[in-house]
Amino acid sequence: MKDCLFCRIAAGEIPSDCLYQDELVYVFKDIAPQAPVHFLVIPKEHMDSAAAVDETNSAVVARAFEVIARLAREQGLEGFRVVSNVGESAGQSVRHLHFHVLSGRDMTWPPG
Ligand code: 5GP
Ligand code: ZN
Repeated sequence: MKDCLFCRIAAGEIPSDCLYQDELVYVFKDIAPQAPVHFLVIPKEHMDSAAAVDETNSAVVARAFEVIARLAREQGLEGFRVVSNVGESAGQSVRHLHFHVLSGRDMTWPPG
């Protein structure tokens, strides 16, 4: 989508620290990490948020979690958290579906 930051990152138009990509997903380090490990997994095709997932596009979500599990294994992550904020009130600042993967420190629950 034109003028979408994460569409432009996935297309290579804006530089990012890419960890992995395939035909469905793009994975890159968060520019403002909230933990020693903090990367984002996004669909290459634009989707506003997890609220836009349905039977026509859910394959990308399955792929995202396959990739998360593989990268966690490869990076030797002992524990990690996967977060997707939906809507401004939940803290979503970029309107393109993304899964945060956070690790490398102890975390508390509930989140703020
Ligand atoms: P949200 O607040 O929507 O849940 O998460 C958006 C995330 O994108 C934030 O953690 C923010 O640091 C990250 N982010 C915003 N702009 C950029 C950018 O240009 N490059 C990278 N690598 N991350 C970004
Ligand atoms: Zn987009």
